[in-house]
Amino acid sequence: MDKHEFALDVSNLTVEYVTSDGIVHAVNDIDLKIPPQKSVGLVGETGAGKTSTALAIMNLIPSPPGVIRSGKIILNGYDVLHMKDSELNQVRGSEVAMIFQDPMTALNPVLNIGEQIEESILLHEDVTRDEAHEQACEMLEMVGIDRSRIYDYPHQLSGGMKQRVIIAIALCCNPHLLIADEPTTALDVTIQAQVLDLISNLRDEYRTAMLLITHDLGIVADMCDEVSVMYAGRIVEHGTVEEVFTNTKHPYTEGLFDSLPKINDRKSLLKPIIGLMPDPTELPEGCTFAPRCRYAMDKCFKRRPSLNAISDTHEVSCLAYEDPVFSIERNKHGR
Ligand code: SF4
Repeated sequence: MDKHEFALDVSNLTVEYVTSDGIVHAVNDIDLKIPPQKSVGLVGETGAGKTSTALAIMNLIPSPPGVIRSGKIILNGYDVLHMKDSELNQVRGSEVAMIFQDPMTALNPVLNIGEQIEESILLHEDVTRDEAHEQACEMLEMVGIDRSRIYDYPHQLSGGMKQRVIIAIALCCNPHLLIADEPTTALDVTIQAQVLDLISNLRDEYRTAMLLITHDLGIVADMCDEVSVMYAGRIVEHGTVEEVFTNTKHPYTEGLFDSLPKINDRKSLLKPIIGLMPDPTELPEGCTFAPRCRYAMDKCFKRRPSLNAISDTHEVSCLAYEDPVFSIERNKHGR
């Protein structure tokens, strides 16, 4: 494979957690490709397997109880699942970096923020400590924090500033891929937009590919080129943002859109997706969405659909697309 064909090329990834309650099937045979400098949104409910996917890409699945049962993860040409720990430590930071949900726990409370940015620079670049210090000051300014705060400890910063420091650490070695896992969930709503703008601007400036994990479709619309919708550990729909938003195919994706408030129709009630995601230790035999799907047919409870292309760039995992009558019926409803 051409090393630069994809910033990230995941194939047949399966992640499980072996617990006393049974085997948790967190990620089930997924493929995910991100071209260089493109941004892909990974959306779905809590428990869909988004964070396990991200941790697997970093080869950070906690083991035990986690195990990457199968799959291949190629990160800018590097085979992540077959590298020594020392090689992996180089790849993390220089090839891939992650912004976690909670900046409060991602920073080390006993080191000042300058030391934490410098540590990452010194690990990946051949520079002196003074040069690393100067680069850390510049990164701090890039994320909108005055360089005079370089000796501050995490507890002296607000939540938004801590997340800015995390972003500085993530980008200081100019990785090919940035993974942002719900990067604003833990932040005050008033500063969420500022942090998203910052990530977006720096991603463009550093020409970094991005995997953005979120349950917020509005954020995906603003920041991504493509979107993968995940349900019960599987990708059920993938396409360009335009395709998935304007030509929604999978009933689960349709449910996600229907459950959003409509700005021009404030009187209509929100339509939640009835029911819960299946127990990941006991996934149903057929389509995992069948118990909640308003279009479910008998065969949906017996046969599991695979992800099939319906255009060059749009894929959907739904048995109904093998049934022309179904497509006609759905079109009547304007989809
Ligand atoms: Fe619904 Fe059947 Fe499609 Fe599953 S395969 S999403 S149950 S129509």
